[in-house]
Amino acid sequence: MQFHLDGFRPGDPDLREAAPNAGGPLPAEVDVLIVGCGPAGLTLAAQLSAFPEIVTRIVEQKPGPLQLGQADGIACRTMEMFQAFGFRERVEREAYWVNETSFWKPDGADASRTVRHGRIQDVEDGLAPYPHVILNQARVHDFYLDIMRRSARRLVPDYGLKLMGLQIGGDGVAVRLEGADGAEVGVKARYVVGCDGARSAVRQALGLSLQGDSANQAWGVMDVLAVTDFPDIRLKALIQSAGEGSIVLIPREGGHLVRVYVELDKLKADERVAARNITVERLIGAAQRILRPYAFEVKEVAWWSVYEIGQRLCPRFDDVPDGEDRDPRVFIAGDACHTHSPKAGQGMNVSMQDAFNLGWKLASVLRGRAAPALLRSYTAERQAVARELIEFDREWAAMLSAPLRKEPGGPGVDPSEVQEYFVRHGRYTAGTATRYAPSALTGTGEHQALAQGFPIGMRFHGAPVIRLADAKPMLLGEALEADGRWRLFAFAGRGDDGGPEGGLATLCRALSDDVLPRFTPAGDDIDSVIDVRAVFQHGHRDLALGALPPLLLPAKGRLGLRDYEKAFCPDLKAGADIFDLRGIDRARGCVVVVRPDQYVAHVLPLQAHGALRDFFGGFMRSVA
Ligand SMILES: Cc1cc2nc3c(=O)[nH]c(=O)nc-3n(C[C@H](O)[C@H](O)[C@H](O)COP(=O)(O)OP(=O)(O)OC[C@H]3O[C@@H](n4cnc5c(N)ncnc54)[C@H](O)[C@@H]3O)c2cc1C
Repeated sequence: MQFHLDGFRPGDPDLREAAPNAGGPLPAEVDVLIVGCGPAGLTLAAQLSAFPEIVTRIVEQKPGPLQLGQADGIACRTMEMFQAFGFRERVEREAYWVNETSFWKPDGADASRTVRHGRIQDVEDGLAPYPHVILNQARVHDFYLDIMRRSARRLVPDYGLKLMGLQIGGDGVAVRLEGADGAEVGVKARYVVGCDGARSAVRQALGLSLQGDSANQAWGVMDVLAVTDFPDIRLKALIQSAGEGSIVLIPREGGHLVRVYVELDKLKADERVAARNITVERLIGAAQRILRPYAFEVKEVAWWSVYEIGQRLCPRFDDVPDGEDRDPRVFIAGDACHTHSPKAGQGMNVSMQDAFNLGWKLASVLRGRAAPALLRSYTAERQAVARELIEFDREWAAMLSAPLRKEPGGPGVDPSEVQEYFVRHGRYTAGTATRYAPSALTGTGEHQALAQGFPIGMRFHGAPVIRLADAKPMLLGEALEADGRWRLFAFAGRGDDGGPEGGLATLCRALSDDVLPRFTPAGDDIDSVIDVRAVFQHGHRDLALGALPPLLLPAKGRLGLRDYEKAFCPDLKAGADIFDLRGIDRARGCVVVVRPDQYVAHVLPLQAHGALRDFFGGFMRSVA
């Protein structure tokens, strides 16, 4: 991380300088009002709190932060996002790492006993730099709250405030909130984002509803401390029994806790699971029967819940009806837009990715960097992702609920098919399969061959490099911070050492003279909107720092200090050359454009200066 740019400041570098109007009671007018402190709301709040000039507030109907329960799966892709927010290491340290998954089925000789029939690596090699982990949703909230508290906005949620209604006007949204004492509070917001869960009041205020299967599936879930001789108690395990249903067992952080999901009954339309009076003893009994012949003695129940969930999707994620040509003011994200089973551990992850997609777009518009039309892309991009999620979940949930096949060719599912499906969809559940369709923000693939390992529309897949100036081994993806900036990685062609006649220096001159000044407000650092970095093919000791093009050693901040973190070389010592790993055309090099939410927006030749200018001009406001 970089700090001291505007002068030496002692103490915690994560504690940002406070904006003049930061903190304080809820003002009557805000730029963004976020409703709901779940993973979606907190991701968005953490993102927006990074911008001192944007007045963001987040309200939550509960009296304080979540303490336990709810979701716990954190996909590899989400860890990349946590890296951008700066708390990936904290999660890795605390979490349970899902290294392997095992599969159990009834013993052929005695169907009342369960036996292991498969054990596999959970995430395929090389798919992502960070592990798939399990950590209580409440801890994820804590990490976000920490970032918000130390941000320029000193953002702390306003608890005990419930959204009651909203009215969209010409220049903003009038929001009615109710305090715990019943008092009404009015706030005017330029934008409102409903991250208020499956029963979203914001969604209802927009006249939208979740559509899909009207019946809910009831789920029992318990986090327990248990004494057991089940050998895979510290592995994620899918256990299917002959006649008692199935359980998903998920070891939890701390070495002792374990989560058990028990699938219960399908409810009738509009039936609430609470009416069935399901007890934790029933869940424990089901787990004990399914785990037979192993003992499972529950010593303490840390949290348990029965909840109902349907596979449903909202047709729009904003307030603009189909056929109406205007920019949106109100958005919904997370469970407010899509609900599905917990079987694939996607709920928290996809919700956070919704918010990550929206956060930088709102910031760009509110900071005057992009026209409000940019906000239309949120529904377009995320609704497609959610649709895929619902389809995937429907298939996966059906597979896990299906009775076991008794004879070849008979009805039901064979346990080996379950394992095979799990492996086949590993990239999807890791969160790395999302691909945005071509649009103003996502280029078409004419030049994809220049960087085959950075598919356009998919998340930027980091790879090892050595930072030139200080020889630090790192992942190139670590340069992607959640700061709303675009990144442009220029991969040098063979032999190009940054000298004035080479392709890289020519690109840097074109960027400095034309592209960057067009979109960067006067007086701001040259990398404040588009951050240009370069990767050379040379070993890091074979390049002279002082010979780099000036754009790669920019003078920044109040003191005009140089930024030494723009140039990288392959990590040849580790034997993992990024040019080979990501299929970069060594002869020609290329430019890889990366969005603020870490997705690859474009791949272009080094010489495509005009195409770069046009690409950014397609959605950014020119300041020139
Ligand atoms: C009881 C429960 C148990 C769950 N268990 C699991 C599980 O075991 N495994 C799993 O994978 N997923 C589980 N989930 C789902 C998972 O937690 C969600 O997918 C994930 O939290 C979605 O995040 P979100 O931010 O969209 O919504 P949520 O986490 O639901 O957050 C919404 C927030 O908005 C607040 N809110 C709602 N209405 C208003 C209002 N009108 N005004 C102000 N605030 C409001 C809520 O209090 C809540 O804090 C569970 C969800 C619930 C509710």
